[in-house]
Amino acid sequence: MASIKTCVTCTETVTVPCRSCGDVNYCSWECETADKVSHQLLCSTFKTPEVQQRPADGMCRVLFFPKDDDKPRVIWLKVVDDYFGLKPDMDDIMDGRTYRPEEIDENPLTGVKLDHRIHLCYVDDFASYGKINMAVVETANRMCKPWMGPILAYCGKVSEDEEGNDFVGEMMDMDMTDYSTVSQYFIAARRDFAERAKVVGPKVQAVKVLCDGEREANDCLRLQPFTAPRFHPQFHTEGHVSTISTLVGMPLKLTKWKDTRELNPRNDFIGLKGPGYIPVQDSNTGTVLIFREDLAPLKVGTVDVFRSFCEHAMDRALDEMTAQKWNEFLTARVG
Ligand SMILES: [Zn+2]
Ligand SMILES: [Zn+2]
Repeated sequence: MASIKTCVTCTETVTVPCRSCGDVNYCSWECETADKVSHQLLCSTFKTPEVQQRPADGMCRVLFFPKDDDKPRVIWLKVVDDYFGLKPDMDDIMDGRTYRPEEIDENPLTGVKLDHRIHLCYVDDFASYGKINMAVVETANRMCKPWMGPILAYCGKVSEDEEGNDFVGEMMDMDMTDYSTVSQYFIAARRDFAERAKVVGPKVQAVKVLCDGEREANDCLRLQPFTAPRFHPQFHTEGHVSTISTLVGMPLKLTKWKDTRELNPRNDFIGLKGPGYIPVQDSNTGTVLIFREDLAPLKVGTVDVFRSFCEHAMDRALDEMTAQKWNEFLTARVG
């Protein structure tokens, strides 16, 4: 329901709508990929008449995460008016149990304010269900805490009464942008801060190292900058941490690039440099993404200089591989 078309996974405003549903905007292929696993669960069903057409007046479109299914649903519920304002009639869907709404007024990953409020409702003692809600797990691309029981999200415009209390004065239908916001809320609502820092914050600047085949096919430079939101799956896959990079206090993680075309999976840049990059003498590594383990920005030039440093350091003692030596080396190369 965003009136300004901003990217749903970052704050950028130059955006392109999803080619399939057209109901959500992304600034880049990287931002679209970050949201892809979640978005695909509902993208095609969102266009169907059951979702698009209001069955009767006085109904609103909501998102439902069933307790015993691995997919969310878009459903219509009757609107009722209670003491605190309008809301969908969800007594049946919540198993007749008492429930609480969490109020979402901004995108939890980007901090962008919403022009409406999303209410995320879950049963009070949801642990009593004893079974993880897989529709939430799939929506969050497996990056969430274990939610349980039925969960429902609805949205509306919030007004203030004479005493300054909030209430929902007008219901709104949930759309795919709201769905992405809810998905990102699940991802951001992690318990400890160390984990949160891996998903909440500015985009990560990383470096893609193309395999020989991909570089030749595209006739481009080996090292390519890659900037994507922190919850992009590429930052959450298994990888190696370069030995020398750890010794010099700039731990670099290398993950195999998932969508590589594997024309020629040799990667001379990575594979032949021994302990600097991958701890095996294997040149069959394909395209690789390199990023700092602490997710601080990493420049193409730094990776290039680091490769030279590894060559330089390989025939020297390990105690020469210090942060100070590396910084001197880097400064001398980049000025
Ligand atoms: Zn974006
Ligand atoms: Zn779509």
